[in-house]
Amino acid sequence: MNRYRIAPGTSVDLRTIDPRDKSAFSDLSKSKALPVLETMRRELSALQRVLWADAQQSLLVVIQAMDTGGKDGTIRKVLSGVNPQGVDVVGFGVPSEEELRHDYLWRVHRHAPAHGRIGVFNRSHYEDVLVVAVNNLVPEEQWSKRYGHIRDFERLLVDEGTTIVKIMLHISKDEQRDRLQARLADPSKNYKFNPGDLKVREQWDAYMDAYGTAITETSTETSPWFVVPADRKWYLNLVVAVILIEALTGLGLEYPVNEQNLDGFIVT
Ligand code: AMP
Ligand code: MG
Repeated sequence: MNRYRIAPGTSVDLRTIDPRDKSAFSDLSKSKALPVLETMRRELSALQRVLWADAQQSLLVVIQAMDTGGKDGTIRKVLSGVNPQGVDVVGFGVPSEEELRHDYLWRVHRHAPAHGRIGVFNRSHYEDVLVVAVNNLVPEEQWSKRYGHIRDFERLLVDEGTTIVKIMLHISKDEQRDRLQARLADPSKNYKFNPGDLKVREQWDAYMDAYGTAITETSTETSPWFVVPADRKWYLNLVVAVILIEALTGLGLEYPVNEQNLDGFIVT
């Protein structure tokens, strides 16, 4: 999925990236996508079992998006089929009072995945340079130093055995309008509607700038960002599945060989 990977040093302007692009699966459509996703899920599940058995490395998947961008649905659809015992999904909402009394990485670091596990961050420490920067929740001189902290923090995790992929689900403002409207109409989605999301929507351009800066500043060789076109859910699920499969395949994992002498061992 190199086409969506942001090469280090690239200056990202989200306005130039098409949320409806489907060039990685141009021969597919919604109705044909499900069996393909099913195959990918099985592959992901097989890779996760080796990660778990090997227990030397971990995978951290950071997912960010504007509201209705599909974070929850992608996690549900792509990771269903993977052994739940080996996956930790953590959502990061408005920080608690206790969290606010610490540095912003304090609440995040403790959820970094242990060896053998896949950790998924539904929102993340990036909120501390997104919502925080757009609204100046702390002074600019404070949040502007955070890109450097984040690069160092992620390098620490990588150096200690974690592979990181960061995924921005990129929806258009028009698509968001339709999805917010649909949330109001659908009783099974109604609970997700938060009038506060409308204020965030009004700040759309400021968020696009903040995302562009954050991604530009923090996409590195070992901790890359992927900006994934997200107006079509079937497409984004496939792309995210491939990103995870490629990340795990890249670890070159194998089942560990049992060091004990098991020759002639008979179970009675
Ligand atoms: P949701 O993902 O719908 O549960 O919403 C979570 C909310 O928490 C979003 O509005 C985020 O912007 C907000 N949030 C997450 N992290 C932070 C943070 N560090 N500071 C302020 N707000 C945050
Ligand atoms: Mg929400």
